[in-house]
Amino acid sequence: MPDMKSVLVTGAARGLGLEFCRRYLADGWRVHAACRTPEKATTLMALAAGSPGELHLHRLDVTSARDGAALAGALGESSLDLLINNAGIIGPARPGGEIPDEAAWSEAFRVNCQAPYRLTRLLADALGRAENGLVVFLSSTMGSIGNLAATNAVPYRTSKVALNMAARSLSIEFRDRFGVLIVHPGYVRTDMGGPGATIEAEESVAGLRRLIDGFEPARHGGFFDYQGKALPW
Ligand code: NDP
Repeated sequence: MPDMKSVLVTGAARGLGLEFCRRYLADGWRVHAACRTPEKATTLMALAAGSPGELHLHRLDVTSARDGAALAGALGESSLDLLINNAGIIGPARPGGEIPDEAAWSEAFRVNCQAPYRLTRLLADALGRAENGLVVFLSSTMGSIGNLAATNAVPYRTSKVALNMAARSLSIEFRDRFGVLIVHPGYVRTDMGGPGATIEAEESVAGLRRLIDGFEPARHGGFFDYQGKALPW
């Protein structure tokens, strides 16, 4: 079906990634669901059965340059309407005052910043082939210096600040080829957000979908929450 819109979601097997896939499958999109263990993505497979969309499962550890290149190769010469850089880790989340484990801090940078930067570059041609290609980066208000209200989880916070800069740089470099949105999904009840979070994944992704569907050039490269409010860097 050549007219089918296509989206690629990283970290697709649970949490917000799974909810993005659920909604795009229900809306009849071609969904490239990228996750570390596709053979175990049983919820995704069950969602796809009977949905109007098309599910393509890909193996992707976002820190693996080889997996990224294989994924770009699998897309071939096709176009990609939407890339959702969703995969992320919280890293060492201790309160301020303790020195975080260095290897774990580096891992937070690799997963949360370097990986989405690399994947976006690898998929730039596919995004550029779409009529209105768009890349969404899942950031966080915890990466907003202007919003700083707590000092826990410094590895996560710094990795998301760095992600914002990486994404903003891409938005300038590729401004003629695809749009870029940097988003905070809210405080969401997933494995990362935990049971005390304030909203469900359905509400978060519904809000993010409105932002994505209503994308306009004035918002290119900006930082917004799931309700569309502009956030300080
Ligand atoms: P979850 O912890 O529920 O899910 C994280 C996802 O990332 C999983 O699918 C996981 O895959 C994947 N992932 C982690 N490391 C890798 C890796 N190396 N390669 C591929 N996939 C990986 O998180 P959420 O769904 O809550 O978060 C999604 C995004 O939203 C993240 O970027 C997060 O920082 C951001 N965010 C979330 C908030 C919240 O309140 N939940 C608030 C602000 C931002 P696997 O199943 O293989 O482990």
